[in-house]
Amino acid sequence: MARDSRYDVLFQPVRIGPVTAPNRLYQVPHASGMTNALPRVRAAFRETKAEGGWGVICTGACSIDQTSDDAPLPFATLWDKNDIQAHALMTDAVHRHGALAGVELWHGGASVMNRASRLPPLSPSGVPWMATHVGFMGNLRPKSMDRSDIRDVLRWQAEGARNARTAGFDIVYVYAGMGYLGYEFLLPEYNHRSDEYGGGIENRVRFVREMLEVTRDAVGMDCGVALRVSLEELRGRPGKHHESEAHALVALLSDHADLFDVKMDSSPTDCSASRFTGEGSHEPAIDFVKRMTDKPVVGVGRFTSPDTMVSQIRRGVLDFIGGARPSIADPFLPAKIREGRIEEIRECIGCNICISSWHDGVPVRCTQNPTAGEEWRRGWHPERVTIARRPEKVLIVGGGPAGLECALTAARQGHEVTIADRNAAWGGRLTFEKTLPGLSAWNRVVDYRLGRLAEMANVSMYLESELGVDEITDLAPDHLVLAPGARWTRMLYSSMEIPVGTLEHPAVFTPDDIAAGRLPEGPTLVFDFDNYYYGGVLTEHLAASGIAVSYVTPAGQASAWTIMTNELPLVHRALARRNVSVTTLQMLTAFDGTTATLTHLFTGETTAVSCRSVLIVGLRLPRRTLVDAVEARRADLEAAGIRSVVTIGDGLAPGAIAHAVHSGHKAARELGQREGRRHYLRDMPITDCEPGFDRAEAAE
Ligand code: ADP
Ligand code: SF4
Repeated sequence: MARDSRYDVLFQPVRIGPVTAPNRLYQVPHASGMTNALPRVRAAFRETKAEGGWGVICTGACSIDQTSDDAPLPFATLWDKNDIQAHALMTDAVHRHGALAGVELWHGGASVMNRASRLPPLSPSGVPWMATHVGFMGNLRPKSMDRSDIRDVLRWQAEGARNARTAGFDIVYVYAGMGYLGYEFLLPEYNHRSDEYGGGIENRVRFVREMLEVTRDAVGMDCGVALRVSLEELRGRPGKHHESEAHALVALLSDHADLFDVKMDSSPTDCSASRFTGEGSHEPAIDFVKRMTDKPVVGVGRFTSPDTMVSQIRRGVLDFIGGARPSIADPFLPAKIREGRIEEIRECIGCNICISSWHDGVPVRCTQNPTAGEEWRRGWHPERVTIARRPEKVLIVGGGPAGLECALTAARQGHEVTIADRNAAWGGRLTFEKTLPGLSAWNRVVDYRLGRLAEMANVSMYLESELGVDEITDLAPDHLVLAPGARWTRMLYSSMEIPVGTLEHPAVFTPDDIAAGRLPEGPTLVFDFDNYYYGGVLTEHLAASGIAVSYVTPAGQASAWTIMTNELPLVHRALARRNVSVTTLQMLTAFDGTTATLTHLFTGETTAVSCRSVLIVGLRLPRRTLVDAVEARRADLEAAGIRSVVTIGDGLAPGAIAHAVHSGHKAARELGQREGRRHYLRDMPITDCEPGFDRAEAAE
């Protein structure tokens, strides 16, 4: 199908100083969890996006010196020749597809603990950033930089920029955002200096300006110089000569940068989850930048709609449409717009599982795109599969995220796919979860797959079809895939997480009851030891339904694991807005229909709480009925010609939707192969050059 001409503007080339981007779709730097220890994994991950049409592809934060050490969080480095070679794999890969390669040189300042290097963190005035943040806590406070420290950082930035040019990068960044060193100089709360680097905004931008100058000197006319800067806080501060200090900053630095990459100040607002924030949410903080500079501006906002993208450009908000999450969820988003295949875009759902991967210290995982991070090590491509030499009959039981992904991937291989679900709608757990506060965008997981399946002639889909072993043997597929999902239990734990039996009472509910439309009588006590989103969002749902509800958890915070997805502060705000009391560090130990007994996790002290019902969001177990029946009658299945049986998704091991989608994809790619036989390739750091050679050279 031909592209709609209104999207043509997205495919215009744009200059960034001495280099030219082939189009306006710009993959901004984002964490991938792929350090220099995984250079081939990283190169293939970034290359796939270049192949998919992104005009600029950047790496994530890349440390310029050992004083910028984020361990145990993953970070890249550009310190020596081995690092240069590791990055050159990526720049070569990106250039093969005509895209520009960018690198976000980075000094973490007081926001890193230098846990591995054991060097003092650097800061303008000794003030830590996020050092007491739960989850990132450390017990080392930064030193205040003296003039020689400033000179050192400028020298490291220049060295990093030269290394970047040698590695083949076209765009080299100065990073002054998200609490890192440059940002700390910009904000008076972190910068108390009385020298020429502190005081008014003209002085506070000096360090960043000098970083830009040394970068320019280092790369000459070979690379564009980009400034990545957070503007949320500065935008709120009136300027002396400009509307705000953010306006002043752009005016003061306009001549020194070839590109402004503008963003918010903290991960929860910058990379906010769709549960709380919509597409284009940065606009109020950054909409002025283009008025203050003639340099191109890139910004993000979880843009997946080409109409929104065009509107950002036409209205003069942005020159480049920045994408981090949308480029992970669909590396081929630009190609699909360019080729008029908009309905094929696999839109990011804004769940932030990708961010949780970085917090977990592992390569990126994505709910929508199970191939993210698997391009090199498993050889998975987001748009291509190996076409089966001989199409076979594949029966999938269960049409949740796992079953639908398996069906789609198997059908793409050319197999004859039948998928059945006992429900009246496709989507499994999402048929209910999409109705919960803020979760409607999550149903893109289902919509995308149903849309593609509907186009395929080799797929038969049956709703309201409960399948047992007899129906399965009658259908006699070559391969059987069981995707029956999981169920919630009334199990309780001891403080040591030892199961202590189920809490049996007619007024004890599980999430499955709520999904089935059974609403508890208030006041309801929600006891959440699942600790991801579900307990919190169900509490919101009950409160929105007019039920008096309180929330109790043995964790230290509500929905504690959502610290990993940037949602935690917003979960607390949402519960507070609905007048939900949050009680932490308590276990539910008894309930008699009118009183719940809570026991303090550490002291054992008990408290009685009056309530009429209890909702336990705790342990999930696989739905075993069909899986066990199939196991028991394996001989009948073999007699019917069924050659392989696999269980996938929550029916195998209950998890986040991302796990189910990955499991479904893997099963389809490995159809008929013996389970556990397929290992992924292990990547290795590049160590061609003697470690430490730089030190020797420096000593000469
Ligand atoms: P997952 O996340 O692993 O995809 P879900 O719970 O979202 O799991 O989806 C599982 C789906 O499987 C549900 O829609 C459920 O109705 C369906 N299902 C379970 N057992 C059967 C069965 N025996 N026959 C047909 N559908 C089934
Ligand atoms: Fe989007 Fe979720 Fe994928 Fe991240 S993990 S890119 S938020 S769909």
